[in-house]
Amino acid sequence: MSRRFREDRLLVATHNTGKLEEIADLLGPFGISVTGAADHDLAVPEETETDFRGNALLKARAAARATGLPALADDSGLEVAALDGAPGVHTADWAETGSGRDFAMAMRRVHDGLRAAQAAEPCRARFCCALALAWPDGDEVVVLGTAPGRIVWPMRGDQGHGYDPIFLPDGYTQTFGEMDRWEKNRLSHRADAFKQLIEKCFSDDDGG
Ligand code: IMP
Repeated sequence: MSRRFREDRLLVATHNTGKLEEIADLLGPFGISVTGAADHDLAVPEETETDFRGNALLKARAAARATGLPALADDSGLEVAALDGAPGVHTADWAETGSGRDFAMAMRRVHDGLRAAQAAEPCRARFCCALALAWPDGDEVVVLGTAPGRIVWPMRGDQGHGYDPIFLPDGYTQTFGEMDRWEKNRLSHRADAFKQLIEKCFSDDDGG
């Protein structure tokens, strides 16, 4: 049984204001006020772990230790089966150019890798999102949300961000890049992770 969140304040270890607002909206109904990394002048620790759970935990622990507040952190990315799970924790790195991120280049890299591996269709893949909650006393909870699907080529759609245009979620005919934001947010890896975390730590003990 995971520890229930009984406090009224939570630090979200992110400098991304969009993420912060989204999380504040999700946790508002539970009477929790949310504060971001920028309010606490938090350093961003190096993501040295080899999986999403490890990196989310590392960031949550560092934030809880630095502030004395319970802290929530996430880590996300894309795993492609025929590439042995790559880009995985290096999902953002694959887009780095030295002068900003180029996701068209990163998506081409996925496609080229699949061609080189002579991967059979369908090219199975999944988006992952780990969410870690760490308390200053050392207790912690971590969940992994996923969105299963496959890689398609060429890129389709100009909605969303990152690798959305080459990801076709199972059961749908539109890529994440073609879907409207609300629909994608409903079935995304992030939605799955939040659902799990809320069930474990935030909803009533009776499951309500
Ligand atoms: P981070 O967890 O915010 O560092 O995200 C890691 C990287 O994963 C991002 O830079 C995106 O490239 C990719 N990523 C995470 N979630 C999504 C998504 O929903 N769509 C497309 N790309 C994503």
